[in-house]
Amino acid sequence: MMGTTAAAVPWGRLMPEAGREAARIVDSACVRLWLGEVAARLEAERDFLTQLDAAIGDADHGVNMHRGFTAVMARVSAVEEATPGQLLRVAGRTFVSTVGGAAGPLYGTAFLAAGGALGDTERFGPRVLLDALRASLEGVQRVGAASVGDKTMVDALSPALDAYELELRVGGSLETAVNGAREAAVAGMRATIPLQARKGRASYLGPRSVGHQDPGATSTALMFAALEQAVIADRSQRFAAGARRPVSGS
Ligand SMILES: [Mg+2]
Repeated sequence: MMGTTAAAVPWGRLMPEAGREAARIVDSACVRLWLGEVAARLEAERDFLTQLDAAIGDADHGVNMHRGFTAVMARVSAVEEATPGQLLRVAGRTFVSTVGGAAGPLYGTAFLAAGGALGDTERFGPRVLLDALRASLEGVQRVGAASVGDKTMVDALSPALDAYELELRVGGSLETAVNGAREAAVAGMRATIPLQARKGRASYLGPRSVGHQDPGATSTALMFAALEQAVIADRSQRFAAGARRPVSGS
């Protein structure tokens, strides 16, 4: 039965945009889950990130990211009622004010830009999330002026967004889109190993930066892994709560 329908309707493109976006499944609870998952992973990966940065930078990336996200969680937990955009703007402002080096302004800008793009909408679908993530990438590139191949966080962020967008184009869901984004971010992170750094502190090393995984691309891949985890956890919580149908039309 399903097979007949699938054969009659060519893949992708015909999926009505409005139909997908009608399932507005990202809300404040989901964003809080994501931020919490990022914080937990940064705590677990703190020493690893610092090790990566010790090889081609100044050995502070893990410590900085962990300190920043600890502050973000404290600030976000204190905010009871907030839209997803407000939460991300709080996270961005907190990051800028608590994290030094390059990571503070870059990630701070990424969160602020995503939060700005979302405005004060209370729930939204995968297409709106893509717009917010695109705004993050633009913000990061405005601040850091890095392109793909420079051995920076952009090497994970940019392919992740392309993979996410491709999933939506072929009729994928939020779940498949964040899964594709995570896989592409990890591949982009690994692809930084043979690169020579052209931006940031690692670029001072010239050819000696080759053979090391970029710490910023690594923390960005971590954030996409956390996003996928949060989307899955959020869906499970909805099912557990008995909300088996996607919320539509709200
Ligand atoms: Mg550093």
